Amino acid sequence: MTEVVQTPSQPGTQFVPRVFSGIQPTGGLTLGNYLGAIKRFVDMQASGIETFYCMVDLHAITTPQKPDDLRRATRELAAGYLAAGLDPAKSSLFNQSQVPEHTQLAWVFNCVARMGWLSRMTQFKDKAGKNREAASVGLFAYPNLMAADILVYHATHVPVGEDQKQHIELTRDIATKFNHDYGVDFFPIPEPVTEGAATRVMSLRDGSKKMSKSDPSAASRINMTDDSDMISQKIRKAKTDPDALPSEASGLNERPEARNLVNIYAGLADMTVDDVLADVGGKEFSVFKPMLAELAVSKLSPIAAEMARLMQDTAEIDKILRQGAQNARTVAGPILEKTYDIIGMVR
Ligand code: ATP
Ligand code: MG
Repeated sequence: MTEVVQTPSQPGTQFVPRVFSGIQPTGGLTLGNYLGAIKRFVDMQASGIETFYCMVDLHAITTPQKPDDLRRATRELAAGYLAAGLDPAKSSLFNQSQVPEHTQLAWVFNCVARMGWLSRMTQFKDKAGKNREAASVGLFAYPNLMAADILVYHATHVPVGEDQKQHIELTRDIATKFNHDYGVDFFPIPEPVTEGAATRVMSLRDGSKKMSKSDPSAASRINMTDDSDMISQKIRKAKTDPDALPSEASGLNERPEARNLVNIYAGLADMTVDDVLADVGGKEFSVFKPMLAELAVSKLSPIAAEMARLMQDTAEIDKILRQGAQNARTVAGPILEKTYDIIGMVR
């Protein structure tokens, strides 16, 4: 279990440890989202710290979304959270758009963050592609909303995959600048929590690319709703090299596809890469891939089945999210009010 420590923003000041994270309801959930994020959310829920987990629907619209698809993806993401073990009695589960304090604080942060900071964000460069002029303003300002998502709860710990570390760094810069500019010690400086063997799950087709919901190739990712045959087939066809597995992690250097499959095995089995290689070192992929497929099916199938069951009663999902939003607002409301007070808004 992650040991959670208090993170003073300045020596002598302590914030109550609190966890926030979110996932975009765009497309289906992938194995990358599961190992890099959701599985970690469940671990942190067990730590006894207050946990807030969000469907970040307002982030989703930074790229075009069909309204009905977005609604469905939001409920399916909530079903994924619940099926993987998040418990509404222990964690606040809600949609970002149901807690207006996120966007209210984001406006304040639009006025704290600098254009130069946001111009350096690799996610913006990747997602905007060559035609930056045509990207939405929202895609550019996205990290400010993400900072607000976190800081509106005074969250101190943010479980995320590797790819989000740069955005957490920006969140820290925003909190630091706000505190400095207004001479306060109001926002904590949050820590990214990226731990375990699978903080960056790679595409099954190309070991140099992140596994992503938005990759056009369906064979590049395992979806949490894939059935057993589909999971086995995708693992069987995953790109590898001709060599047998090494007995030590150093033997995976320069072998990105082999490393990825071992990392996935370790993530699913809650083992270290060294422990996995101690067991499977020397085996050919023709032997290892069926072992990995069996493990993946045993871990993911029960979650997929539970997601399907939950999706039959979307009214129940909506009720859980409304309740979660109410909870969240009792924390976010006073923090936003205090922010407004600090910056000089007449209340
Ligand atoms: P998109 O490609 O549309 O950005 P995504 O799969 O990256 O989708 P996000 O909603 O952006 O999903 O990310 C949700 C969480 O999942 C984040 O914490 C992110 O770091 C994590 N995550 C996403 N992909 C991976 C991956 N391949 N490996 C590990 N963690 C991942
Ligand atoms: Mg992403």
